Amino acid sequence: MKEFSAAKKWLDAHEQALLDTLIAWANINSGSSNLVGLKKQAEAVVPVYESWVDDITLHSLPSYMQINEQGHKQAMEAGPLISITHQAQAKKQILLSGHIDTVFAADDAFQETNTQGNILRGPGVADMKGGLIVMYAALRALQETDAAEKLGWQIILNPDEEIGSFSSRKHLIDAAKNKDFGLVFEPALDEQGNLVGARKGSSKITLMARGKAAHAGRDFAQGANAIVAMAQVVQALHSLNGKRDGFILNVGKITGGTAINIVPDLAIVRVNIRYDNIDDLRWFKNKLDSISLHWKQKEDYDLEIQEQPSREPKPLIAGNAKLMGQVIATSAALGHNINYKATGGVSDGNILWQAGLANVDTLGVCGGGLHSDQEYMLVDSIVMRAELTAKLLYDYAHDEWKI
Ligand SMILES: [Zn+2]
Repeated sequence: MKEFSAAKKWLDAHEQALLDTLIAWANINSGSSNLVGLKKQAEAVVPVYESWVDDITLHSLPSYMQINEQGHKQAMEAGPLISITHQAQAKKQILLSGHIDTVFAADDAFQETNTQGNILRGPGVADMKGGLIVMYAALRALQETDAAEKLGWQIILNPDEEIGSFSSRKHLIDAAKNKDFGLVFEPALDEQGNLVGARKGSSKITLMARGKAAHAGRDFAQGANAIVAMAQVVQALHSLNGKRDGFILNVGKITGGTAINIVPDLAIVRVNIRYDNIDDLRWFKNKLDSISLHWKQKEDYDLEIQEQPSREPKPLIAGNAKLMGQVIATSAALGHNINYKATGGVSDGNILWQAGLANVDTLGVCGGGLHSDQEYMLVDSIVMRAELTAKLLYDYAHDEWKI
C-alpha cells in the first residue's frame, strides 16, 4: 500500500507515541536564553529523525549584539540550530521550519505539563513544540507512501525565534533559496485550526540618549539631562501613530538615571514598530533620522540608534495566496473547513517571504493561551494537522497542484 491511506494509517497508529514525545519535549525547558535547555531540546529531536533521513546537523550560531540597560553592547548567545535534509537531489524541494525555543525562561513558574481529556497544558505545547511534532509526523507518515521518493526537503529548527531570529536569520534565508515553497509550524489561530493570512512587518529599535552628568545641588546648570531629552524623543516617536494607515509604534521600555541627586547622562528607550508595507518603514526611518539629527546638533547631547534586522511584511499575495488557497482546499477535502485572518503578529514566515519564498506559517497544532501560563493545545489536532500537511505534500508530489 503506497497511497495516501498508508500515511493516514501510520498517523493513527502513532497518535499516542506522538503525544508522548510532545509531552517529553514540553518538559524540557528551552527558553530562548536557556542554552543548556536548548541543547537538550535539540538533542531530543535527533533520535526521531536520524534513522531515516539523509542528514541531520546541529549548527552553532553567531551571537547577537544587543544594547544592555547600562548602554553597553552585549553579545547574546544563541542555542544550536538544527538542519535536516532529505533527498537533496529531488526536483521538488520544500522548506519546513520551526523553532525549538519558548518564551518561558529557566526560572519561569510555568514548567509542567498536564493532560485533561483532549487538552494538554504546558509551556510550548502549542508554540511550538506541538508544531514540531506535526512537522515530524507529516514527513514520517509520508515515508509510507509513494510520494516520499518524489520529494526533497529541508527542515530548519531555530533556537531564537521568540527573540527575533537574529542569530538564525542567515540560515533561514539561505535555506529559502531553491525551495518551491515553505511550511512553518506556528500554532493555528484558534481551536478550529484557522490560519494566519497577511502579517505586518515588525522592527525593533533601541534609542540611547546621552547627556552630561552633574550633581543636582552643586552643578545643576552644568548637566544635560538625558531623561528629559528622551522624554521629548518619546513624544516625537509616539506622535507618529495615526500618521499612516496600519502603522503602529509602541514605546515599550524605558530606563535611565542613577540617583535622584544626579542629572542623568543616559536614558534608553526600546520601541517596536508594526507596518503593512516597506514604504512605511522608509517613511519611519526618515522621521527617525530627523529626530536623531536634531539631538546630535545640540551641544552636550547625543542620540544613538540601533535598529535590529526587521521582519518585513508578509502580504497575502502571489505565491502566499496560492499556497494558502491550496492549504484551505486540502483541509476541506479532508473534512475540516478552515479559513484565514490577517494579524499584526510576525513569524519566521516573514523572513522566508523576505527571501522570496512563498509560505503558510500556521500549520502547527490548534490551541491557545500562547506566551502565558494558560498555554494549551488540543491533543487530537496533532494527527489532524499532520494529515493536512502530509496530504498537501502528497498531492504536490503527484502534480495535483502547482505553485
Ligand atoms: Zn512560535
